[in-house]
Amino acid sequence: MRLILLGPPGAGKGTQSARLVNKYGIPQLSTGDMLRAAVAAGTPIGRAAKAVMDSGSLVSDDIVLGIIAERIEQPDAAKGFILDGFPRTVKQAEGLDKLLADKHLSLDAVIELKVNEAELLGRIEKRVKDTLAAGGTVRADDNAEAFKIRLDAYREMTAPVSAYYAGRGELKAVDGMAPIETVSAAIDHALAAGQRV
Ligand code: AMP
Repeated sequence: MRLILLGPPGAGKGTQSARLVNKYGIPQLSTGDMLRAAVAAGTPIGRAAKAVMDSGSLVSDDIVLGIIAERIEQPDAAKGFILDGFPRTVKQAEGLDKLLADKHLSLDAVIELKVNEAELLGRIEKRVKDTLAAGGTVRADDNAEAFKIRLDAYREMTAPVSAYYAGRGELKAVDGMAPIETVSAAIDHALAAGQRV
């Protein structure tokens, strides 16, 4: 199963990915997580990406495509993967098409979590509170200022990615405002409906 989860920051992509990882036994490939790991490890990519990420803007397509190209070659991705936070631009979507075509692979589903934008900042604020309560470290871009830039980047650069897949008849929309279990059930339903035989 090769799956893309689309949706703005705070839509619940991470939460739903984690459940799908358990259900299908395939890894979640989050470019945000991979970039944060590169920042923490102080690699050249991490050093180049840190300021851009902290501001809420998007890292360059070439960097992100390079990370994904390498990651999908790993043995744990052979059975499939869940892409979370990638592709975020049409150029990345085109690059992914090429990566998959070169390996004679295709996508099984593209699912978009539809959410009411007015509620997203509240969700991010809750994530910060929960992280602090659990003794964790809050993301540098989980603040109101960076969040506004992340949402603008989503509207400008990532919304066209939904149109890209919708134009090919591959996009399935799910109501991301419903309770977590209801969203999960809707995703399962969308996946079952789209399953290739
Ligand atoms: P996320 O954890 O998906 O919210 O990503 C956190 C930050 O990492 C984003 O605001 C971007 O700066 C960067 N990032 C993650 N994925 C991508 C991507 N596919 N393209 C460009 N930048 C990305």
